[in-house]
Amino acid sequence: MLSSKQDSQPLLLSPGPTPVPEPVRDILAAPLIHHRTDEYRNIFRAVSEGLQNVFRTRNPVFTLASSGTGAMEASLVNFCSPGDRILVLACGKFSERFAEIAKACGIECDCLRVPYGEAADPDAVEKQLEGRSYRAVYSALCETSTGVLNDIRAIGRLVARTDAIFVVDAISGLLADRLETDDWNVDVAIGASQKALMLPPGAAFLAVSPKAWAAAEGGRLPRYYLDLRRYRKAFETFDTPFTPAISILRGLEKSLEMISDEGIEAQWVRCAKLAGMIRPVLESWGLEMFPRNPSSALTAVRLPAGIDGTVLLKILRRDYGVFMAGGQGDALKGRVLRIGHMGAVREQDLLRGLEALSGGLARLGHPVGETVFDAPGRTR
Ligand SMILES: *Cc1c(COP(=O)(O)O)cnc(C)c1O
Repeated sequence: MLSSKQDSQPLLLSPGPTPVPEPVRDILAAPLIHHRTDEYRNIFRAVSEGLQNVFRTRNPVFTLASSGTGAMEASLVNFCSPGDRILVLACGKFSERFAEIAKACGIECDCLRVPYGEAADPDAVEKQLEGRSYRAVYSALCETSTGVLNDIRAIGRLVARTDAIFVVDAISGLLADRLETDDWNVDVAIGASQKALMLPPGAAFLAVSPKAWAAAEGGRLPRYYLDLRRYRKAFETFDTPFTPAISILRGLEKSLEMISDEGIEAQWVRCAKLAGMIRPVLESWGLEMFPRNPSSALTAVRLPAGIDGTVLLKILRRDYGVFMAGGQGDALKGRVLRIGHMGAVREQDLLRGLEALSGGLARLGHPVGETVFDAPGRTR
C-alpha cells in the first residue's frame, strides 16, 4: 500500500503542527546566521512585509519567539489593565484560553458561550455589547477544537462602534479562511508559524492597529518579554528586542515566497476544495460533520458510536504513520476526529489519510467499504 518513499514518511494531518515543505526544510537546516546583521535585518524586513500581505493589513506585524499562546497572552497583558472588563466569545478550547489568561492576569471577563460545534452569534454579541463597556472583545477566526469558523466581519462591525478593541486569534484560520484584518475592523490579529505558514512551531505574530496602541499606552499589567512597546521600538530598525527565532524566520521568508507565488486567495480556495473533497467521503462513512459553520482549515467529525477515537488515532499513527487529532476536553475526547488540510497538505496526502482512516475504522468494527477517489493518478 505504501507506494513511494514519501508515502512511508510520517504524515501530519493534525490542525497544527502541519507539514513543512522540502524547500523550507532545506533552509531550516542551513548553517545559522547572526541576527544583529544586515543579512538578518533584510530577511526580517521582507517577512514583516510579507506578513502584512497575509494578514491583509497596513499595520505593522510584530514577531515573538513563542508559540501562539505567547501572542495570545501578549494581546491581554498589553491592551488590558487590572480591573478592566473584556468579552470573550467562547466556542471551544482555544477561545476559552483568552478567558483563562484573563483570569490569571486579574482581568474581569464575561464569556458569551455557545455550545461546542456552533459559531459565535453576531446578534447575541450585539445584544451583549449594548449598554456595557468593554476594554476588548476576544474571538477566534477558526476555533480549532471544534472546526468552527466565526463571522469575524460581522462581529468586527459591531465592535468597531464601541471603544473596545477587537482581538482575533487567527492562528489556524490564517490562509485557510478569508481574513481581512483592516477591512473587518480587527485591531489585533494573531498568527503562529506552525499552521498554514508551513513552519515548525517557534514564532508568533501580532498585527496591531492604532486603536489597540492607544489602549496599550495606559496599560498597567506587568510585562517584560511580552511588552510590545519594546518590539515596536526595535521594529524601527527591523530589529527585535530579544534573540529572534532566526531559523524559523529564514524559513518564513521561503514559505511566504511560496504563498505569494500561489496567491493568498488561491490558498483559501485550495483549502475549501480539500475540505469539499473529504467531507462527503467522511459523511458517506457515517462520520457526521461536527461544526455547523465549518472552517476550511480542518474537518472535525463525530465518530460513530462504539468507536474509541483514542484507539483509532493510535492505530493511524502506529500502523499508517498518519497523525490526525482527536477531540479536546472531557466532552469531545475520543468522540471527535479532526483532520487538518491547511498549509502544505496536498490532495494525495488527504487520500493517504482517508485510506488509513478506512483501514483503522474497519479494524475497529466499522467497515466503510470500497471508496473510489477520483484523484489524478490514484484510484483503487
Ligand atoms: C494551534 C492554535 C493555537 C496554538 O497555540 P500554541 O501556543 O501554538 O500551541 C492557538 N489558537 C488556535 C485557534 C489554534 O488553532
